[in-house]
Amino acid sequence: MTNETWGTVRQELLKSVGHNNYRNWIEPLEFAELSDGVALFHVPTVFMGDWVSRNFGDQILSQMGKTGQPVKRVEFRVPPNAAPRPSATAPRPAAPVRTPAPEAELPGATLDDRFTFDTFVVGKPNELAHAAARRVAEGGPVTFNPLFLYGGVGLGKTHLMHAIAHELQTREPGTRVLYLSAEQFMYRFVQALRDKQMMDFKQLFRSVDVLMVDDVQFIAGKESTQEEFFHTFNALVDQRKQIIISADRAPGEIEGLESRIVSRLQSGLVVDLHPTSYELRLGILQQKVEQYRPQFQGVVLADGVLEFLAHRITSNVRVLEGALMRLFAFGSLVGREIDLQLTKECLVDILRQSDRKTTVEEIQRKVSDHYNIRLSDLIGPKRVRTFARPRQVAMFLCKQLTQRSLPEIGRRFGGRDHTTIMHGIKRIEELKQKDSQIAEDIDLLRRSLEDQ
Ligand code: ADP
Ligand code: MG
Repeated sequence: MTNETWGTVRQELLKSVGHNNYRNWIEPLEFAELSDGVALFHVPTVFMGDWVSRNFGDQILSQMGKTGQPVKRVEFRVPPNAAPRPSATAPRPAAPVRTPAPEAELPGATLDDRFTFDTFVVGKPNELAHAAARRVAEGGPVTFNPLFLYGGVGLGKTHLMHAIAHELQTREPGTRVLYLSAEQFMYRFVQALRDKQMMDFKQLFRSVDVLMVDDVQFIAGKESTQEEFFHTFNALVDQRKQIIISADRAPGEIEGLESRIVSRLQSGLVVDLHPTSYELRLGILQQKVEQYRPQFQGVVLADGVLEFLAHRITSNVRVLEGALMRLFAFGSLVGREIDLQLTKECLVDILRQSDRKTTVEEIQRKVSDHYNIRLSDLIGPKRVRTFARPRQVAMFLCKQLTQRSLPEIGRRFGGRDHTTIMHGIKRIEELKQKDSQIAEDIDLLRRSLEDQ
């Protein structure tokens, strides 16, 4: 095989692996030789060779096969004349390694091109998170570190993180942004331990300008991963590098997360994405219609369809999007206007699922937000009035808005007896008559829970 053939193969790979992967992983490969059916490539680091082999080895092999080359296997090796790498058994350096690794080494997850600020619809429930993300995406001196974004599933955390990465890379193309899920972080860590490549691992994570770790709740309870995460985190903060973290709940509410990590995570800016409002959902739908229209020419949605979706599918933007896509696909098949009747038929399963009633967890979260106390205090044993009253309000709402029995509610309030729940509900019923503030709180909470 010649370098020229490799050039053709690379072009094909560009199409199949996408631009980002191509730049990070394929471009830096140097074709060395083909002998005995083994194609040898030179790579700058062992880590990278391993990564490429694992993730793109098969694709490279099959593309090479298509050019008529007798290739049985592909191998990746660090050329012998490359700079010696620190061995894994060498003593730990006292200070973090500051030499930046070559660009190609960033093993982040692929960024979704659609997740940009342009396609992110801003509304009351996410405006703070959006503003904070924008701010961080401007680059410049690091003001809050880390930025901690949290909120329920499908509310746009990943979208915002990708948007920040895109924006930073557009503004400052050399910025080394590493985005990955906490699960990938752990996987990488375990792999490095196993392969005795901890030095590479540490160096890699400490050489980035911006580190983003998505769904950090995943490392709760995983001690050694947390330990390593903590060190990486501190090293980067010390170097004034931006860190962005997401989770499905606030730092203090992630069980099994060490307290020193919790307080580190709280030391920056913590912002949450609230459940979507009707207006936000409608805005998102309108935006998605525009976004997908080119792919579904000729599909017409009748008036009121988007409003219906925004009203009925309330839990998760991903589900909302899925519903819209299905309608579009359906519309292009049947070739007539999608009216409400067709919408209901087409989405019968999704609508049924979304029909579910408010849950105890939602009520607890809403109530603790409303009274500005922690969820753990709402549920926990403390009896001071600041916690006890909101707790009783939450119990009352659970009885009113869910089908749960008193013992079931009790279990969800830290294992309380059903008589305690009954007492709490009675208390609120009385107070509602005399205390207009309580009556108002309850009214507001109920409306916002029903309106979700
Ligand atoms: P999370 O990471 O919080 O679970 P994602 O960021 O993956 O949620 O969002 C789920 C889907 O919903 C994605 O397709 C995303 O583009 C979309 N989405 C969520 N919030 C918004 C928003 N405000 N504007 C546009 N799309 C959104
Ligand atoms: Mg996510």
